[in-house]
Amino acid sequence: MDLRESSQQAGTHFSQKFAVEQILFEKKSQFQHICVFHNTGLGRVLVLDNIVQTTELDEFIYHEMFAHVPLFSHPNPKSVLIIGGGDGGLLREVLRHPSVETVDMVEIDADVVHACRKFMPFICRDAYEDPRSNLIIDDALVYIQETEKTYDVILCDSTDPTGPSEALFSPAFFDMCSESLNSGGIFVNQCGIPFLRGNHHHKVIDDLGLVFSEVAAYQTTVPTYSGGPMVFVMATKNSGVIDLPVETINTRYTAAEFKTLCYNPAVHKAAFALPEYMTDPLWLKLRG
Ligand code: SAM
Repeated sequence: MDLRESSQQAGTHFSQKFAVEQILFEKKSQFQHICVFHNTGLGRVLVLDNIVQTTELDEFIYHEMFAHVPLFSHPNPKSVLIIGGGDGGLLREVLRHPSVETVDMVEIDADVVHACRKFMPFICRDAYEDPRSNLIIDDALVYIQETEKTYDVILCDSTDPTGPSEALFSPAFFDMCSESLNSGGIFVNQCGIPFLRGNHHHKVIDDLGLVFSEVAAYQTTVPTYSGGPMVFVMATKNSGVIDLPVETINTRYTAAEFKTLCYNPAVHKAAFALPEYMTDPLWLKLRG
């Protein structure tokens, strides 16, 4: 059995290792190195440019917290734009909301979609067959510049800010996303692990604050993302969306009538409570 290890140098002189027990798919696409491998403890794992993206065992945590916090924060989300999200997990969770009428998903790399549909079908399930979903293979930066469409929710499920993802963390991109949101619209992106990335999410919050009136980070812990809790950053032009009473969230969650494994209204509310180090500019700055 091939026990080559896939390690991820976390940029702070420690790394995590995965036993790569069987490689199911490996390709250098136009945009990145793609690998899907099997690991007895985690099931199937998707890695892009040697960074773990998602694993069979814990993908539900990330995708539920990414989808349901904004979608239960919005009073009636009908149109959603997903940026990236090539594994299909976020698309799956967004489509569980009965109010959602259309989901456009703009993914730059068709090879990621192909690899995940073929070797990790338990993530996307039948999301791509849902008549409400519309997969667009394109650079999201180009798409957001050219589209006339507007959305109730925009979810930017990109890789970390390198290569084709880098521009998706720029003030100009945030401004275009803001313009592509309907009144009361919500934008969320994934901002990695503050313990490792330090100031990154703080800069994202500052930049989003230039075009949105309310911006806040919320956290969750995905076991295979090394370095502790990760944060999402949520932004909206309407007040009262981010700090909703748990009773309101609970009413909407109950009405949606679907079961979750990580998300619930109390977890939603608590996710916005951050440890001091995640908001201490000096500590974060020291970690670059
Ligand atoms: N769940 C992962 C995580 O936790 O970071 C990320 C989900 S998904 C695998 C990230 C996707 O972003 C990849 O499929 C990548 O191809 C896509 N992506 C990167 N830059 C992009 C761009 N400019 N436009 C559209 N998709 C992009």
